[in-house]
Amino acid sequence: MNLDQVKRELEERLDRLTGRLSVIDSELRSPGSADSEDRALESENKEVLDRLSESERDELQSIRRALGRIREGTYTVCTACGKTIPEARLVAVPDTTLCVRCAGA
Ligand SMILES: [Zn+2]
Repeated sequence: MNLDQVKRELEERLDRLTGRLSVIDSELRSPGSADSEDRALESENKEVLDRLSESERDELQSIRRALGRIREGTYTVCTACGKTIPEARLVAVPDTTLCVRCAGA
């Protein structure tokens, strides 16, 4: 597995979670609003997020953070020490922001 596959996996997890969000979102909205699907994808409002379990929210946040880091090109850089996080570690823990040494500290 390489980083491209890690990225795809993160995107799939994000899709599943945002799918959950849009279901919750449409439950919260009054029935029959025509563009609820579009708006559901953008949904960030607290009420919707509150319906997710804590672990789902944590996962959603860490996936978004990881994908953001991939976009910015900082995905493989440890946020604590600035050294490169080995690819094997990112494959094992795709949403980590720390190298093994810093995570263990
Ligand atoms: Zn580090």
